Amino acid sequence: MIEIPARKGKAVRVGQGQRVRVVNTKGQQVVDTWAFNAEDMREFMSMEHSRVAIGRIIPAIGDALVTNKRRPILTLVEDTSGGIHDTLFASCDRWRYELLGCSEYHDNCTDNLWAALKALGLEPPETPAPLNLFMNIPVIDGNRVEVRPPVSTPGSYVSLRAEMDCIVAFSACPQDMLPVNGLTMRPTEAHFELLD
Ligand SMILES: [Zn+2]
Repeated sequence: MIEIPARKGKAVRVGQGQRVRVVNTKGQQVVDTWAFNAEDMREFMSMEHSRVAIGRIIPAIGDALVTNKRRPILTLVEDTSGGIHDTLFASCDRWRYELLGCSEYHDNCTDNLWAALKALGLEPPETPAPLNLFMNIPVIDGNRVEVRPPVSTPGSYVSLRAEMDCIVAFSACPQDMLPVNGLTMRPTEAHFELLD
């Protein structure tokens, strides 16, 4: 298993038909997830296009997430985490933490994405909206959104099957100013493994 270090990111090449299993090692860690077409990084997994394709805001087992060209890129094939994820929130960035009152640089998922891809010699065309695995953002009264602790448990996991050769990037979200990563607000590591 490959570690996604606490507060940091990691990217990996995934071949068509391979599965990547993302393990919530400590149970309360949100993992921002992106996928890019390995042949053309300008095509990437898109939450706004995926919500149209699957007809809901949280993917369920069997749902194929699609790209900004509306082609399937990752299909959710296993989920032992309780099935609560988020497709609505942008990844955190330095400005998010500044708005929350942080005066110094704060690790963030956006910079983690760019750093993880840079480690593979790649650069994304932009920061797409992520699939926020294990993130609990309920829609209340059909409109309001709220940040709540994850419902996932230690060792629970999600498996995503690649529908094309792609680059998948993860960030163990460093949010420690809101209960995104549990009420203790302590970001932890997570893990993933590639399965054929
Ligand atoms: Zn984050």
